[in-house]
Amino acid sequence: MFRIGIDLGGTKIELLALGNEGEVLLRRRCATPQGDYHGTLRALGGLVEAAEQVLGRKGTVGVGMPGAESAAGGRIKNANSTCLNGRPLRDDLQALLQREVRLANDANCFALSEAIDGAGKDTEVVFGVILGTGVGGGIVVGQRVLAGVNHIAGEWGHNPLPLPGEETLPPPRCYCGRSGCVETWLSGPGLGADHLRHGGEALGAEAICTRASAGDQACEQTLRRYERRLAKALAQVVNILDPGVIVLGGGLSNIERLYDAVPRLWAAAIFSDTIRTRLMRNVHGDSSGVRGAAWLWNDR
Ligand SMILES: [Zn+2]
Repeated sequence: MFRIGIDLGGTKIELLALGNEGEVLLRRRCATPQGDYHGTLRALGGLVEAAEQVLGRKGTVGVGMPGAESAAGGRIKNANSTCLNGRPLRDDLQALLQREVRLANDANCFALSEAIDGAGKDTEVVFGVILGTGVGGGIVVGQRVLAGVNHIAGEWGHNPLPLPGEETLPPPRCYCGRSGCVETWLSGPGLGADHLRHGGEALGAEAICTRASAGDQACEQTLRRYERRLAKALAQVVNILDPGVIVLGGGLSNIERLYDAVPRLWAAAIFSDTIRTRLMRNVHGDSSGVRGAAWLWNDR
C-alpha cells in the first residue's frame, strides 16, 4: 500500500506518494486554479488519477490546506485561498475520489511530518510552529494530530503576545480583528513592521537578518526584540502543553540564531526548575506539509 499526500496551497497543488517506510515513490505538482473551487477539485482529482496510473494501484489520500473544517458541518473556514471557505471540501473530494479522504490544517501537517520522521521523531508531544507570512501551530501526540473539539488546537498565532513587556507602542492590528496577536509580532511581515515602527527602514525579514549579521545596530535590536517575543510566546505553550520538541518551520525558521537565543530567553517565563524542551529546526523543509498530509493515514 502507499499514502498520497496533497498540499493544497494558494499558488500550487503538490502531490507526494510515500511507500510503507516513508520512501518517496512519486511527486507531482500543478498550479492552483485561481479563485475556482470546482477547477481546484478537478486539478486535485487529475493529480491523484495520474499518480495512481503510474503506480498501478490506489493509495490513501490525505490533504493539507490553509484553514480548517468547521466543527459545525465540516465546511472549510479560515482559508486564505478564499474560494475554499464555506465549501464541503472533504465531502466533495470523497465523492470525486471514491474513498475516505482526511483533511488537516497545513500547520498540523507540518507538525505531523516532523513528529514522524523529522526533528521530533521519538518524541511523544511535538509542537510545530510555522513562522512565515502568517504564524500557525500544530500539536502532535503519539504521532497523531491533536485536532481539538473546535479543530483549532495549536492555533497559537492569534493568542495575544503576553504583556506587560517592553512594548511602549500600541500593539499592531491583526487581520482577525484583534490587536497584538502573536502573528502580528512574529510573522515575516510582523518583523518588518516592527523594524519600521522603531524608526528603521522598510526592510524584509531577510534583509534585516543580513544587515544584523553585518553589524547594523538597528537591525540587531529588531532581531533581539523578535527573539524575546518568540521566547515569551513559546514559554506559554511550554507551560500549557509541555512538549518535548518545538520545531520551527516557515521562512523565519532559517534564522539560525533563534535556536540558541530563544531557549536562553524562555527560561524566565517557564514555570519549572528543569527545562528539557528542545527548540529545533525542521528536517523536511518545504516538503513537511505534503509529507504530513500523507501521514494523516498513519494508522494503517
Ligand atoms: Zn489575530
